[in-house]
Amino acid sequence: MPHRVFNFSAGPATLPAPVLRQAQAELLDWHGLGVSVAEISHRSAPFIELAAEAEADLRTLLSVPDDYAVLFMQGGATLQQALIPLNFAAPGQAADYLVTGHWGQTALKQARPCVDARVAASGAESGFREVPARGEWRLSGDAAYLHVTANETIHGVELRERIEADAPVFADFSSSIASEPVEVRDYGLIYAGAQKNLGPSGIAVVIIRRALLARAGQPRAEILAYASHAARDSMLNTPPTFNWYLLGLCLKWMLAEGGVEAFGQRNAARAARLYAAIDGSGGFYRNEVAPAVRSRMNVPFFLHAAELDAEFLRQAGERQLIGLKGHKVVGGMRASLYNALPDAAVDALIDFMREFQKTHG
Ligand code: PMP
Repeated sequence: MPHRVFNFSAGPATLPAPVLRQAQAELLDWHGLGVSVAEISHRSAPFIELAAEAEADLRTLLSVPDDYAVLFMQGGATLQQALIPLNFAAPGQAADYLVTGHWGQTALKQARPCVDARVAASGAESGFREVPARGEWRLSGDAAYLHVTANETIHGVELRERIEADAPVFADFSSSIASEPVEVRDYGLIYAGAQKNLGPSGIAVVIIRRALLARAGQPRAEILAYASHAARDSMLNTPPTFNWYLLGLCLKWMLAEGGVEAFGQRNAARAARLYAAIDGSGGFYRNEVAPAVRSRMNVPFFLHAAELDAEFLRQAGERQLIGLKGHKVVGGMRASLYNALPDAAVDALIDFMREFQKTHG
């Protein structure tokens, strides 16, 4: 058995071991073709079959209705943040943004050059520890869409309420897609970079209500048009074929593990265990996010004295617990608990935290 550590990285993140083993076994000779999947044309029948199967599996996993298109795109989640205004808003049209953390701010920044991007509400005043109450949101009557971040990967803030608005809701699900059942019909568009819950970096998934593809949007090259990608099954140009393959293997793994219902239960239970350990530490560890919006996927936490951070990370590393350093925007620690992370990793982290407190408390 190769050496594998417990990897709490926020993304690119841990991948399921069975997926890596399969990819390794198939690397020199995929499907008896005598070549790897990375060495064949995306227009070849075996690759087109792989792509269609990945789409079908994603539709099954996330219960995507038929009137939604599924796209596999390059350029990550950030590119989608830039494409959204170009594709769905007229030049200068209003678009509303609910800003609940760093990635909501990024989405707003990407949109500013081509729409009248308005902050419907922002958690900035609370240091992104809270989500402004629905009654405080200022939604524009003429907004092309309302953009939200389902899960803020850095600030550890997750929207837990169903969002209702007159404008279609466009949601960044990069760090929580497939972590629990979601009603796709509640959204006009869902997008996610794959590198957290779906697979490797270099590919993003976009789920769009087909009727929205008829919007004129803004002058743009064909490669920037979602409708063109949809019309050509995401093969307008050479797609990231190997990433698509790995993503497909991850989808099959998630389905075999019981799908989003099973992950939803598992993820809620283990996030609750970790938060309970933090809250029960008598202030040695703390998470400052309002309990109602604490993320199940990304748990930022602080030690009571920042001088202990380096020692905490060093000792964690000795126990094969890696990727725990917090993002520089907030500091401290962050444990990302994506689907492919084993339960044993969370238990090992909690055990280590208790022990570290005993020796440094
Ligand atoms: N949105 C969220 C919620 C993210 O976590 C990230 C990446 N960490 C991004 C957007 C940006 O993704 P990418 O690097 O794929 O552009």
